[in-house]
This record gives sequence, structure tokens and C-alpha cells, in this order.
Amino acid sequence: MTVEADAPVAPPARSRTLSVAGVVAETKDSVTISFEIPDSMVEDFKHVPGQFITIKIPSDQTGHVARCYSLSSSPYVDDFVLQIGVKRTVDGYASNWLCDNATEGMELTILPPSGHFTAKNLDVDFLFFAGGSGITPVLALIKSALVVGGGAVSLYYANRDAESIMYEAQLAQIAEEFPERFTLVHWLESEMGIPSAAVVESAVDAHKGSQIYTCGPGAFMDLVEKSAESRGVDHSAVHREVFQSLTGDPFDTATLRRLGDDDGVATATVYLDGECITMEWPRNTPLLDVLLSKGHNAPYSCREGACSACVCKLVEGDVDMVQNNILVEDDIADGERLACQALPLTDAVTVSFDDL
Ligand SMILES: Cc1cc2nc3c(=O)[nH]c(=O)nc-3n(C[C@H](O)[C@H](O)[C@H](O)COP(=O)(O)OP(=O)(O)OC[C@H]3O[C@@H](n4cnc5c(N)ncnc54)[C@H](O)[C@@H]3O)c2cc1C
Repeated sequence: MTVEADAPVAPPARSRTLSVAGVVAETKDSVTISFEIPDSMVEDFKHVPGQFITIKIPSDQTGHVARCYSLSSSPYVDDFVLQIGVKRTVDGYASNWLCDNATEGMELTILPPSGHFTAKNLDVDFLFFAGGSGITPVLALIKSALVVGGGAVSLYYANRDAESIMYEAQLAQIAEEFPERFTLVHWLESEMGIPSAAVVESAVDAHKGSQIYTCGPGAFMDLVEKSAESRGVDHSAVHREVFQSLTGDPFDTATLRRLGDDDGVATATVYLDGECITMEWPRNTPLLDVLLSKGHNAPYSCREGACSACVCKLVEGDVDMVQNNILVEDDIADGERLACQALPLTDAVTVSFDDL
């Protein structure tokens, strides 16, 4: 096996331009935006339910900002259409820009789907806890599990009030279509208060053995995780998606970041897309940047430790993560690392993107 030394910086161009196919008001402060996928881009936008896209939003101040939006459409149900649900953030920039400006025919620059809030197997029982706009990836998973799998699917959906419920009609229709397999519980804060640990724990008890997925405000997801843990659910059965704004620019792929002083090189062995790559790894350069600079199509989105698109598994050796706003202790104990933030701690490091 040869070790790749320095090669020209040639990151693969990943962004694509898609036209908005339609915009529909979902609630008074949220919209569903649809994108049609031209035949030539079907491969680029292949995805699994639960993933998100990253959109370049124009700005007079900064040129653009980048924001991630989960796909609410299911690749098994909604052929060749991608849909996102955008909820206005109070004083937010991009969400309000999209809600105010997105119109049919508008062209937007987009990074193809990525992310790990996904299911290895759709043919199991699922228990979902969604809060507010956290319903978007959950809706894609629900539709997919009901069509592809055969298990029971339950959704606890928390909202401030009845007017804030996104996809209310679509959820009601799914409940009508799958009365035996889909259970829907709306939790309205205006009528029932904030969900308590007792409520979540009893839902967990009632759906023992289910894979648990949660997406919503941080405190809500913490409650779900703690409740599941207290009812003896293994952390590997609990999945969470954190919604946060990116601060960096994932559309700028050309930058080979140097984090720290030049400190020699390590050797990286990387399993990616069924290939085994062995390459020199400058100790001050994140693993993702080294891979991209050598033309390897490693998965990523935010490049700032915020979105988990670049998660890989440590097989041998050790790495430091400069920033990590997404992996929890248990993920790290399981060997998960963010390639966009990983610097080598040992002379030889082996990671796999294929075996997560
Ligand atoms: C994996 C993932 C999935 C997500 N999925 C969804 C989803 O399905 N639905 C959803 O609604 N949200 C989703 N989000 C959240 C979404 O990405 C945004 O964080 C959210 O929409 C808030 O962004 P915002 O710009 O409106 O708000 P903020 O980020 O709060 O806006 C304020 C920021 O914008 C900057 N700013 C203000 N004005 C300007 C200007 N003129 N030019 C440039 N910058 C300016 C400010 O400096 C400040 O940093 C997801 C996030 C992630 C990571």
C-alpha cells in the first residue's frame, strides 16, 4: 500500500443549484419549501430519511450565510421532491429571509443531504419525541418507517399551542392511513404545561424496545434522554438532532485550514466508500481538510463541529477534536469523532466512515 504524500488542493465541488418548486405556509410562522430534483442531479441528492441540506442564503452584509434544514420529505414516499420546513426564529436572519423571500422559480445554492439522525433499520418499533420545528426530520422518518417497515410508530409532538403545530393535516392523514401502527399524541404547552419527566418516562415504558428519536429545544431533548436513561434504555437506542446556526462557511471548500503550529506529520488510514486510503496527515490540519485536499469525497457539511455530517469511527490511535458541539460523551466513548475537527494525537490513526 502506498502512502499518499502532498497532492494539489482539489476539493470536489459539492454545491448544486436547485429551483424552488413551491412554497406553502405551514403555520403563521413557518413554511414548507419544495425543490424539484432534475434528472441530472438525482444521484447528488440521494439521501436517507432524517438527513438535512445546507442552503446558502444571500446577505448584503456578509455575502451569504449557511444554514442547515432537515428534509421533511421521504425518499420512499415523495419521489424526486425535496421538502424542508422552515420556522421563523425570533430576530433570526436566514429563517426569516427564507419565509419572506422564497418563491417558486427562485434558484438557491445547496449542499447535498448529509447527517446521521437516520435509522439503520426502518423495520423496527419507533418512539419519536418532536418539539416545534424538530418535527421536520421526524416526519421524514415516520413516513419512511410506515411505508418501508412493519413496526409500531409513535409520536409525541410538543408545541406551544394549537396554532404552532406544523404538518398537522399531514400527520392526521398518516394517522388515518395507519390506524394500527401509528400513534399520535399532541402535547400542547398552552393546555398541558411543559412535558414532565413522568410523562416522558411513561411513554418510554409503554414503548419498550423502541428506537427513540428526539428533535426539538435542547431542554426537551435532555428530558427525553434523561427519562430514557432512567427507564433503562441503552444510549445506543436514543438518537437526537441538534438544530443550531452555522457560523462558518461550508461553501468555501478551498480552504485548507491550519489549526496550530506546524508540528510534523502523522499517518492516517481511512476507510471511505469501500476504499482504504493511507496518507500523510499534517498534525495541524483537520482530517477532513486533508482528505478533501487530496480529492477524496469525504462527507461533511458545517466544518465547525456543529452538525455531525463528518462523523467517523476511530479504529486505532487517537485524535483530538478542536471543537465539538454535537457529540455527547457516549458517542465519544463509542469511538465517534468529527473529521472536520480531528487532529492526530498518535503517529498512526485509523478511522472509518463506512462502519458507524
Ligand atoms: C442539522 C440541522 C437541521 C436543522 N433543521 C431545521 C429545520 O428543519 N427547520 C428549521 O426551522 N430550522 C432547522 N435548523 C436550524 C437552522 O439551521 C437555523 O439555525 C435556524 O433557521 C435559525 O437561523 P436564523 O439565521 O434565522 O437565526 P439566527 O442564526 O439566530 O440569526 C442570527 C444570526 O444571523 C446573523 N445575521 C443577522 N443579520 C444578518 C445579515 N443581514 N447577514 C448575515 N448575517 C446576519 C447574526 O449575526 C446572528 O449570528 C437546523 C439546524 C441544523 C444544524
